Amino acid sequence: MHTCSFINKQGKKCDNKVIEYSEKCHIKSHYDSIEEFQRILKLSEKYFIDSTILLDNYIVIPILSDGACAYRCMAQALITHKQIIEIDETDETKIADFLQQSIREWIMKNKDMKISAEIDYTLEQMVVDTH
Ligand SMILES: [Zn+2]
Repeated sequence: MHTCSFINKQGKKCDNKVIEYSEKCHIKSHYDSIEEFQRILKLSEKYFIDSTILLDNYIVIPILSDGACAYRCMAQALITHKQIIEIDETDETKIADFLQQSIREWIMKNKDMKISAEIDYTLEQMVVDTH
């Protein structure tokens, strides 16, 4: 990872990651001019648009923000694409609850599993570190 080349007046170097097409980070004042900053932003925006899937390919579906949003999103994906995976249930909450409980049970059963052969890090440690 390359870090920003900006050095402040006290001689401290910026440690932020560089953005695409630049030797500097996302902070405007780290650029020599506003024009240079805007030119880099336009290039970064073009890079993002060219390298990601068009927003037109997505349907935004509002869901409850009750702490189970990831499971609700998975439930919505199953409901929306039921022609791909056959499901009888169409109630988002019931599917989300089922997914959450199934995943919880699987994690509890496999909590000592290493997430990678190269890294000494268990599923249990990862869950604790990410919640
Ligand atoms: Zn910077």
